[in-house]
Amino acid sequence: DAQGLQTGDSVLCEVGRRIAIVLRSDDTVARLAADEFAILLFPRQQSLADVTGHALLIAEAIRSALAHALECGGQTFLLTCSIGIRVFPANTDETPLQVLQSADTARHRAMLDGGNRVVFFEESMARQARQHFELAQALQAAIEQNQLRLYLQPQVNGSGVVVGAESLVRWEHPQRGLILPAEFIPVAEESRLIVALDRWMLRRTCELIAEMQRNACPLRISVNISPRHFIEAGFVDDIQRLLESSAINPSLLMLEVTESLMIRNMDDVVAKMKTISAMGVCFSIDDFGTGYSSLAYLKRLPIHELKIDQSFIRDAPADANDALLVAMIQSIATILNIETVAEGVETREHSEFLTRFPGLIQQGYLHGRPQPGTAWVKKRLE
Ligand code: C2E
Ligand code: CA
Ligand code: CA
Ligand code: CA
Repeated sequence: DAQGLQTGDSVLCEVGRRIAIVLRSDDTVARLAADEFAILLFPRQQSLADVTGHALLIAEAIRSALAHALECGGQTFLLTCSIGIRVFPANTDETPLQVLQSADTARHRAMLDGGNRVVFFEESMARQARQHFELAQALQAAIEQNQLRLYLQPQVNGSGVVVGAESLVRWEHPQRGLILPAEFIPVAEESRLIVALDRWMLRRTCELIAEMQRNACPLRISVNISPRHFIEAGFVDDIQRLLESSAINPSLLMLEVTESLMIRNMDDVVAKMKTISAMGVCFSIDDFGTGYSSLAYLKRLPIHELKIDQSFIRDAPADANDALLVAMIQSIATILNIETVAEGVETREHSEFLTRFPGLIQQGYLHGRPQPGTAWVKKRLE
């Protein structure tokens, strides 16, 4: 993320020079897009193993030359690159474009695996890329054809009273039936489809909040916001418009974001969260403890709730370390005046263990599985 990079310019020139050194005069470098380059190598080696080795050597040299921490305006930016390699024999019937696409598929894999790495193309990647492409197309149609469903899972307090709910998406596929998010959220997140999906869920969530509010039975509902959606330029305006059109009490809407959002442009994230929080909307940190947990951001951000990840809850009644972790998160939250929710409460033991912590909200199969939202709300209003 090179936003606002100026003092780093000289470093970039230096890096460019170092890369130039590892290339030969008969190698070709082309710029494909703003930050995408293709390098065509003509190795002099003969065996496939030697050619592969040569490509890896060059790629590693470039990767390490680019891997740089840049200090800029008091912030540290980590500069990395993702490299994909396609080795192709001289007598191939692949077109240059196909070769380039294969290299790009490998590059994409390198990026999805966290970046700062070199990946060789394999046939299985092409198959997976095709499957993802098809799934993404089907999901796009599903959004347009209204096949998404909003499910609600209740959240209860220590006495078992429902104090909130979480919106969870389901895909009602005409042939395959109900599809769980694990299958399509990752694909949606790779494409921009997640934005459309999250927008749809946000709008439906506000409609349900409005309905309960109209019937004097207000309930706070949480909705998952993907980082990709949050960093969209229009996100704040979208929320503003949604609050106006649905006329809900903003504090009944809780946005769940994950810690992965915090490794982005922190200043931008803080500013946006503060603006939205000033409208009265609440924020929750989802899967807390599994990502980049830093006490510093907890203090800087307007956070109303922490959701303790289910991986800590699962063994907490029996495992002293997990129990201690839950206790620690709970006491930090108490000091910072933040609410906590325990996820994945499946058994009586879980629930009993958690009631030791006053104020801790529980969510899990024990208290209710996710159910179709419209029907759940209707039953509540009866
Ligand atoms: P999450 O936000 O951590 O949601 C909690 C997941 O745990 C849900 O899975 C829920 O059904 C499941 N769960 C609830 N209670 C229990 C329990 O007692 N035991 C176990 N083992 N699991 C429990 P689900 O609905 O399959 O959603 C999976 C993930 O997909 C969510 O994890 C969230 O990251 C994502 N997701 C779901 N809906 C949306 C959405 O509308 N937008 C976005 N961006 N992501 C979504
Ligand atoms: Ca969630
Ligand atoms: Ca979670
Ligand atoms: Ca999650």
